[in-house]
Amino acid sequence: MLTADQYLYSLRQLNFKLYLFGEQVENVVDHPIIRPSLNAVAKTYELAEEARYKDLMTAESSLTGKRINRFTHLHQSTEDLILKVKMQRLLGQKTAACFQRCVGLDACNAVDSVTFEIDKELGTEYHKRFRAFLKRVQEEDLVVDGAMTDPKGDRSLRPFQQADPDMYLHVIERLKDGIVVRGAKAHQTGALSSHEILVMPTVAMGNDDAAYSVCFALPSDTKGIIYVYGRQSCDTRKLEEGSIDVGNCRYGGHECLVIFEDVFVPWERVFMCGEHQFTSTLVERFAGYHRQSYGGCKVGVGDVLIGAAALAADYNGVAKASHIKDKIIEMLHLNETLFACGIACSSQGCPTASGTYLIDLLLANVCKQNVTRFPYEISRLAEDIAGGLMVTLPSEKDFRHPEIGPYLEKYLKGSSSIPTEDRLRILRLIENLTLGAAAVGYRTESMHGAGSPQAQRIMIQRQGNLDHKKKLALVIAGIEKE
Ligand code: SF4
Ligand code: FE
Repeated sequence: MLTADQYLYSLRQLNFKLYLFGEQVENVVDHPIIRPSLNAVAKTYELAEEARYKDLMTAESSLTGKRINRFTHLHQSTEDLILKVKMQRLLGQKTAACFQRCVGLDACNAVDSVTFEIDKELGTEYHKRFRAFLKRVQEEDLVVDGAMTDPKGDRSLRPFQQADPDMYLHVIERLKDGIVVRGAKAHQTGALSSHEILVMPTVAMGNDDAAYSVCFALPSDTKGIIYVYGRQSCDTRKLEEGSIDVGNCRYGGHECLVIFEDVFVPWERVFMCGEHQFTSTLVERFAGYHRQSYGGCKVGVGDVLIGAAALAADYNGVAKASHIKDKIIEMLHLNETLFACGIACSSQGCPTASGTYLIDLLLANVCKQNVTRFPYEISRLAEDIAGGLMVTLPSEKDFRHPEIGPYLEKYLKGSSSIPTEDRLRILRLIENLTLGAAAVGYRTESMHGAGSPQAQRIMIQRQGNLDHKKKLALVIAGIEKE
């Protein structure tokens, strides 16, 4: 396994074509806007080195028998699925940001079982290719960007019906030694933190969408792949001096628009090419795993936010007020409910034909549906407790100013035993998590990450087995016999 430093070093060897604020970025690793999100992924390496987190952060590879980072592991049991969620909660607590590495983990587990099933039915060799790829990922301890979401253009039209055929990533040429693809993947979490990009179709495809039914992996700096960095609220604060106004001093997350401009993929890296009948299963499984993930990562970040709100109450001298205590209890209740969902869908998991374990899809979708709501309420309560000062605070530069600084020190003080600076730091952290750069990874990502709410409702309807419930009612009401 790599150390955190070795991971950062490995990223320096990559040659991304990246645009940020209208300019091409040469040094990705040291860019002040990008670096916090690389720090967050580096934490997945750092914690794996610690003996106390060995069971959580590492696993025995089912492919090689060697000790590997759990972020590259194929789940072999419900226990593995539970440990994954606990690992994500831990990382959320340690980074208070999106640590990005889960998308690759979720993509690898989904592609593993689906390629096995394609091969079994059609006699292809996708699974063998994928396992060879994954073995390398495990042995070299790589980060994989699981890339699913296409731009999608007009949502009322199928991929093949779009006015612009590139609105869904597709194969434009089949060659003897590989394929050429064109299109884009949007909102790509951790794209620049990744060594590899694993591309999957974004919706269930039909017969006419065969060219869009494609899954493959490429080194993330392959020629023809272009990255455009996504802006985040308050992102330029990272360019300023000081460490108060950013709220989170070390960690962050990022998303990119990733453009594939006629990119060549050799056959040994192609894991699906035209088998449209398997796309819905792949989408469902990847989405299901990532919806499980949110029952871990968002809970960990929620822990930090609840802690910050409780500290803000302490610093204001209102911690003993009954309504404050009740609000904190409500935040805890909501957060632990999300965790309960993450654990539940894991404990009810079952093996797929490849041996890789899958979560309970209904419960994973219920988990994510709750995540589209509860972090909003947790944020609302945190803002309530923090008070208006959170959004009217002067800047750190004013606080450090020789003339005006002492006034701020005096008038922004809460409880006399607490340094004013500590109070400012906690309020900025709450701002960061609810409105600032980290809100992308906590609040808004809770809504749209791993699929927007309606996507879960469709799955809940599909998995809810209403006929069985009707039958129960018919029997109990004496209309039918058992
Ligand atoms: Fe992992 Fe959560 Fe970020 Fe998804 S949103 S990559 S589950 S930390
Ligand atoms: Fe996400």
